[in-house]
Order: sequence, then C-alpha cells, then structure tokens
Amino acid sequence: MHIQEANILVIGAGIGGLAAGALLAGKGAAVTVLEEQCYPGGCAATFSSSGYRFDAGATVGCGFHPGGPMDELGKELDIAWLLKPEPVAWEYRDRHIRFGLSASRAEIIERFPGTEAFWKEQSALAGLLWKLARGGVSWPVKSPRDLAELLQKGFSGMPASARLLKFASKSAFDWLSSHNLQRDPDFVRFIDAQLLVSVQTTSRHANAINAAIALDLPSSGTFSPIGGIGTVASLLARSIEKNGGAVLYGKKVIRIDSVRRQVIGIETSDGGAYAADFVIANLTPSSLAAIEGAEAAALPETSAAPSWSAFTLYLGMDSAFFENLPSRHVQIVGSSGELAEGNSIFVSASPGDETGRAPAGLRAVTISTHAMPGGWFDALKRGPDAYREMKHACTEKVFGVLSEQFPEARDAVRFLIAGTPVAWERFTGRLNGCVGGYAQTSLFGVRGPETQFDNLFLAGDSIFPGQSLPGVVTGARRTVGLLMQRSAKGMP
Ligand SMILES: Cc1cc2nc3c(=O)[nH]c(=O)nc-3n(C[C@H](O)[C@H](O)[C@H](O)COP(=O)(O)OP(=O)(O)OC[C@H]3O[C@@H](n4cnc5c(N)ncnc54)[C@H](O)[C@@H]3O)c2cc1C
Repeated sequence: MHIQEANILVIGAGIGGLAAGALLAGKGAAVTVLEEQCYPGGCAATFSSSGYRFDAGATVGCGFHPGGPMDELGKELDIAWLLKPEPVAWEYRDRHIRFGLSASRAEIIERFPGTEAFWKEQSALAGLLWKLARGGVSWPVKSPRDLAELLQKGFSGMPASARLLKFASKSAFDWLSSHNLQRDPDFVRFIDAQLLVSVQTTSRHANAINAAIALDLPSSGTFSPIGGIGTVASLLARSIEKNGGAVLYGKKVIRIDSVRRQVIGIETSDGGAYAADFVIANLTPSSLAAIEGAEAAALPETSAAPSWSAFTLYLGMDSAFFENLPSRHVQIVGSSGELAEGNSIFVSASPGDETGRAPAGLRAVTISTHAMPGGWFDALKRGPDAYREMKHACTEKVFGVLSEQFPEARDAVRFLIAGTPVAWERFTGRLNGCVGGYAQTSLFGVRGPETQFDNLFLAGDSIFPGQSLPGVVTGARRTVGLLMQRSAKGMP
C-alpha cells in the first residue's frame, strides 16, 4: 500500500504520537490522532488551573540545538518552534555545593577539578552518538538487516565509532572508576542526580553510553518554549492538521478490533469507531495491553520495564523569589544525600516575562521528584484519609528540601496543588502512573516499536532511545520507518 493511501490512527497525543503522526501526515498519509484529554502533550503538556499555566512534567526544552532531533523535526515539518535559549540549563544545589550547568561545563570543572578528562571523553562519545543517530541507525538491533545498517552507517563510516564498543557493556560507575572519580562522593552524587532525571537510574545501574548522551543535554543547549513546554505539542498537532490530518480530543480508546495479526479498527469510550490500516499506540506496553482486544498484542517483557512515577507540586509563587537565580530551573539534593521520593527535587518556574502563565506578580512553578507508585495506590485502597496523609507527608518532604536551600520559600507560595502517581495515571493513561520511561541499564534488550500485530506499532518513551522530547522524537522516527517499510511491502 502506498503511504498516501494509508489510513493511520494514533492513540495518544504525547510528543511521540504527535511526532510520528506529523511525520506521516507530512508524507501524505491520512492521520487521525485520538487523545483522551482535552489538550495535547501528555507528560510534556502545559495545563490551566486557577489562572496559571503549569508545565505538567517536562519543563526543560532540549534537543532543539542545531542538528538536534527537535531542530531536525522542525525543519522537516516546516515548524518554527517558539523558543528562547537558556544560557544556564539549570542550577545544581547539594548542601553547600552550588553551580550552574551550561554549555561550557566551566562551573562543574571549577567545582570538581580533575574531571576534565572525563568530560572530554563524554563529549566525544556523545558527539559520535548524535552523528550515528542522525544517520538513522536502527536500534535495537533485531535483524541482520538492522545490524548491516548499523555497521554501514556507523562503524565503517567513522573509525572512531569502534570506541563505542568499549563502553557498550560498561556501567556509568565503571566509566567514572576508569577516571578514578568514584572516590569523590559529591561528584558521584552529582552524576547520579543527573542520571536519575535523564535515564531513570543511577550510575551503578545506568549504561555508560546512555549516560554519555544524558550528560550531554545541558551542554548541547537548552531552551524555553514560549507559552510553556505544551507549545511543542500544540505546534505538532497544528502540523498534522495543516497536512490534512486531525487531532481529536476527549477520545479515550477502549477497544482494539483485530483479525488474526491485523488491527482493523479502534473504538472509543464515546461510542466512536474508526477503521485503520495502521495504528500507532503512544502508550506504555502495559497500558496498551490493558485495552480490550490488545491483550493479544502479548508484548514481550523486557528487562527494562518502567517503574518510577512522579510526585509533583504545582505552585503559584511570588515572581521576585526567582529574580536573582541564574536559571529558572534548580535541581536540589537534600542534606540526607538520598535521591528520589522527595529527597531530591527539580524546580522550574515559568519565565518572568511570560505574563500569560500566571496572575500578575506570580509565576507558575512545577516541582517534581521521582516516586515509586506502589505505596500511593495502596494508600488509595486504604481510603481517602490515608491517601490525603501520604500526599501531605510528601508535600512536606519536598518543602523541607526546598527550604534547605531557600528558607523563605514557603512565604512566597500563593497557590498549591499536588500531582501523585494516581493523578499521573489518570492524566496520562499510563498504568500505575509510570511516567519516567524505562531505566537505561543496557543497550541491548531494549524495546523497539514492534508489537505482535503486524500493523500496530509503539511510539513514546517506552521504546528506544527512551524518555525526553528528543528521545521520543528519535523513537518516533524509528516507528515511522518501520510503518513505511511494512506499507511498502504491501501491508496491511
Ligand atoms: C516529571 C517529569 C519531568 C520531565 N522532565 C523532562 C524535561 O525537562 N525535558 C524532557 O525533554 N523530558 C522530560 N520528561 C520526559 C518527557 O516528558 C517524556 O519522556 C515524554 O513527554 C513522553 O512522551 P510520550 O510520547 O511517551 O507520551 P505521553 O506523554 O505518555 O503521552 C501519551 C498520551 O496518550 C494519551 N492516552 C493514554 N491512553 C489513552 C487512551 N486509551 N486513549 C486515548 N489517549 C490516551 C494520554 O492522555 C497522553 O496524552 C519528564 C517527564 C516527567 C514525568
């Protein structure tokens, strides 16, 4: 089937689903995106509440640097992203340690002298990986064809890429140890804090190559999407519509109809039924399998099942509070030295000049911390009091860590709502509110877009290369590539 004759349904208007949909609509396919909520973006949405526009989860715009995945996507789809560069990606604070993460890494090296060689190696490795990614390398390697493509595009074209082999099976901690940096607990904690937010695990478990890319994010340049991170999703949705497609809101997909290994259509909770030649599920594998009729997708388990959810606070705070900070984002590790579960937090305020984001004199602030979902769902089962108590305790823990660095923080708060893993499940449709993407512990055994249905594919941060805007856009390209291959073979 020619792609221009294909009728493609996308379940979910997260960045992965929208990017895949927009790329396909740009190639002339008839694309319809079905989104349960009344706005796009999922984990990277901006939502309205009480006069504020809060970023729901993602707050840092990365991958928009020249040649980055978002930049390339914008060029291909003729989207002018509305962005402001952020000279300091974020400020890092851990007790008395305090510095900004910027393109030069100067402040990191000043605080941790002796790490230059590590950063030089990291930078070279990340540069190589970006080049390979731009070459459209197929990963995970599943077939001889994939492997041949990898070798041709990567290894034979770039002799230096043989260096990747050295790192492929190492942990980030092994890599730190090879530079003798494991001896500095403050440096290891700093690296762990970066890895937890970017690859969902810490140095002892994270794969060294994944870590090299993750540690590159602040230095390749970060940006502030004007109007909030949700602007990215809105622009992608508009691109789909411009190319003749549709993004339909309030459409919860509840059933997938199939004949043998072919999906033939989709049903929504409002009684809608849609025929499909191909379907892209912008869902976690467990959320897909929970849809009636998709149990048969019987997605093989990977070792990298997602486990983290998030606890978030959405605050209205006095604008003046943020005025003298080097960045509108601050990452804080509390004095216990522990990470996640309220012990380390990522604080992002809306830019001071974006008046539409908050009432006069205030800013819309998102604070997030990694949270294991199990306890929250148990508390919910125990009843509203247990759930409320847990929410209160976690809020207090987050304020405790915030106040260690900013003792006056509580006085600046004018509005507060909390988002628990239960709320994350409700607003993203992700089972157990697992929003972090998978823990990047190994390059191998990661998930690709394929499912047990020939014409149903995954997109989003459950597939390689995982979470973040550039991550899911890179994954979406792989999804689109596979769908195009199948279409060219005459499927469905
Ligand atoms: C707290 C937090 C902070 C983050 N910070 C950053 C950051 O600063 N920078 C960055 O680049 N990344 C960040 N990320 C990661 C990034 O947000 C995600 O990796 C990415 O947005 C995930 O996109 P996705 O395509 O997987 O879809 P999702 O965001 O999961 O979207 C899926 C969509 O599908 C819809 N849906 C689900 N089920 C159904 C159904 N049955 N029918 C119809 N629709 C359905 C949902 O409503 C949702 O809109 C952060 C994530 C979190 C949680």
